[in-house]
Amino acid sequence: MQTSIIGYPRIGNLRELKFASEKYFRGEITAAELEKTAKDIRLYNLGLQKKSGLDFIPSNDFSYYDGVLDTAFLLNAVPVRYTALGLSGLDTYFAAARGYQGEKGDVKALAMKKWYNTNYHYMVPEIDDSTEIKLVGTKPFELFSEALGSGVKTRPVIVGAYTFLKLARYKGSRKASDFIASTADAYSELLKKFGSLGAEWVQFDEPSLVMDMTADDIRLFTALYEKILHDKGGVKVLVQTYFGDVRDCYNELCGLDIDGIGLDLTEGKRSLELVKKNGFPQGKTLFAGVVNGKNIWRCNYASALVTLSELEKLAHDIVINTSCSLLHVPCTLANETRLGEFYKKHFAYAEEKLTELAELKRITASSCPTETEEYRRNAALHSKPRDGGNEAVRKKVAALTEKDFVRLPGFAERERIQKERFRLPLFPTTTIGSFPQTADVKAKRSAYRKGEISDSDYEFFIEKKIAECIALQEEIGLDVLVHGEFERNDMVEYFGECLDGYLFTEKAWVQSYGTRCVKPPVIWGDISRAKPMTVKWSVYAQSLTDKPMKGMLTGPVTILNWSFPREDISLRESALQIALAIREEVLDLEANGISIIQVDEAALREKLPLRRSDWREDYLDWAIPAFRYVHSGVKPETQIHTHMCYSEFADIIRDIDDMDADVITFEASRSDLTILDVLRENDFRTEVGPGVYDIHSPRVPSKDEIKAAVSKMRERIPAEKLWINPDCGLKTRGNEETVPSLKNLVNAAKEARNENC
Ligand code: GLN
Ligand code: ZN
Repeated sequence: MQTSIIGYPRIGNLRELKFASEKYFRGEITAAELEKTAKDIRLYNLGLQKKSGLDFIPSNDFSYYDGVLDTAFLLNAVPVRYTALGLSGLDTYFAAARGYQGEKGDVKALAMKKWYNTNYHYMVPEIDDSTEIKLVGTKPFELFSEALGSGVKTRPVIVGAYTFLKLARYKGSRKASDFIASTADAYSELLKKFGSLGAEWVQFDEPSLVMDMTADDIRLFTALYEKILHDKGGVKVLVQTYFGDVRDCYNELCGLDIDGIGLDLTEGKRSLELVKKNGFPQGKTLFAGVVNGKNIWRCNYASALVTLSELEKLAHDIVINTSCSLLHVPCTLANETRLGEFYKKHFAYAEEKLTELAELKRITASSCPTETEEYRRNAALHSKPRDGGNEAVRKKVAALTEKDFVRLPGFAERERIQKERFRLPLFPTTTIGSFPQTADVKAKRSAYRKGEISDSDYEFFIEKKIAECIALQEEIGLDVLVHGEFERNDMVEYFGECLDGYLFTEKAWVQSYGTRCVKPPVIWGDISRAKPMTVKWSVYAQSLTDKPMKGMLTGPVTILNWSFPREDISLRESALQIALAIREEVLDLEANGISIIQVDEAALREKLPLRRSDWREDYLDWAIPAFRYVHSGVKPETQIHTHMCYSEFADIIRDIDDMDADVITFEASRSDLTILDVLRENDFRTEVGPGVYDIHSPRVPSKDEIKAAVSKMRERIPAEKLWINPDCGLKTRGNEETVPSLKNLVNAAKEARNENC
């Protein structure tokens, strides 16, 4: 059997692309220097893949920011507001990705959305009635030729036509089906061009095929492909799916004149069953995703082999593949110097997954697979239970009953008690938690980690930053303050480091969006709280001000979703274990005089199953209770906030209200405000702070712009339920944008108050 991957991480082993891009944004290096860094990363990755013996090596999996955005540029689906700026090609691209504010104009970025059920985010292409889809870009061809020049014939990867049209946002009256002909023509032309360049295969990524599909969706999909495949230009086509199974279109997919079908046999609950039930078409290659592309545990060869041998009975030509792009795992274990061998032997990052593929290839080629050295070593690794069990925690989780998940008294009574207690002005202003993590903060934290400064020096520094942050917020005039989260590298990793049962890594960075990377901690054993994690900082911060200071925690579902999860116990079990620990922290904060506690569930939606039929049972039925358990023990006068990094919750609106928080802040500035209508229609009970400006972009929103947003909110939300805040934490921004933006925000709120009277 041959081997293949769907894509490789592009940020570089040590995040070289991130650092170079950020230097470029600051004007510290030229475009040519950035391009050189990018090329070095690509060639390095190619070399690794070649050396590993991988048979199908992808190209065009590289991107300066995001692959969907690349596809929009490839297909001429770029709003004129960006092209009209008159910037260079690269800068036009970055303007669409990040927004642009400068001498040539002032435009916001395209909307950004979560990539299926991952923590990666893509830029949402905008299509309006004037959009003319045609092949205008050259990047995939250049990258193919670049790889060919270095001796590797790659398989170019392109976001597929169906997925592209499904992900786009339609601004005018035309819809996806109106773009079938032009899109299919562009993809056909692309195939022909690759044919003439000497490509043997092209991979179209079609993850949207694993979503619930309507009859219209299926028609869109088949219409596109029938047209695209009319003349393949001598190139073989692989339609690659991932993140689930293709139960709605398996037969249509098999019926297409394509040469390879990529199925996810890790997350695709029904993938194997589909092949067994319906068979697999003769003459096509099955790319079998048996090596998990999302998690960092070593593949269990025994179970991979079982799947492969089942498939072998049904398909003649099987290629061993990863379940999805390796974009979602860190690059290499080589830079994990602190994690002991005891743990490390259980791990496989991208580079190690290449080795696993090579091993699986050797094993499957052997006449006696289970006798091979590789197989035996792997079987030995998986045969012993790992350490890290905590009987007490398991017992507590098992003993939870219905009433543990209910906070009393009910919402309305609490709202009354809290209004009385806090006496906040109408439209209270607040922020989401973090303040800019300036160079001095990062340097101190890094020095502290390396042991270069003492505990007391570090604490003194953090206290100084907290004091400055509070003084700043008081000067700006915010109503509910935060301590700034300077002690935190990341909202999940910080808690991972404080909790027992977690392992943390040094260099396990994964791209989240653009140049932003995250380093998810690893859940190794049962989770418990050894000691208070945030109380000291919150109490110190509260001691410096008379205004309410929010205690700031990350919720159990987000901690779980932004960690690499265990595979030996259920997600539900892990979530409840974490909830136990966070609840202890909530109660400690309350006992120490913190009156408002924000429990962020930034990633609540992240692992919502892609298919609606799986939502309740596989997810919401435990995720919402896990959050409720965290705060069900607080007093009525303690105000519980939560925050979410997106506003797509129209479809789970009841569940969000059911989390029973007192206040929720969420992202709303990049999306249209339809969510506000949904809140109103559903009589949303929780008080709300829809973000009034986008913190992901380096722009400073004017007071009038913020006021306009507030007015729109006012039309839809009862005044006494509306909070005013940015749409997310400020840590990725600089003070130069943050301070004027918050001043404008407070002034906008004041004017809105006056107008309301
Ligand atoms: N409290 C966190 C912060 O402000 C929330 C971050 C987030 O929502 N991603 O950084
Ligand atoms: Zn957020």
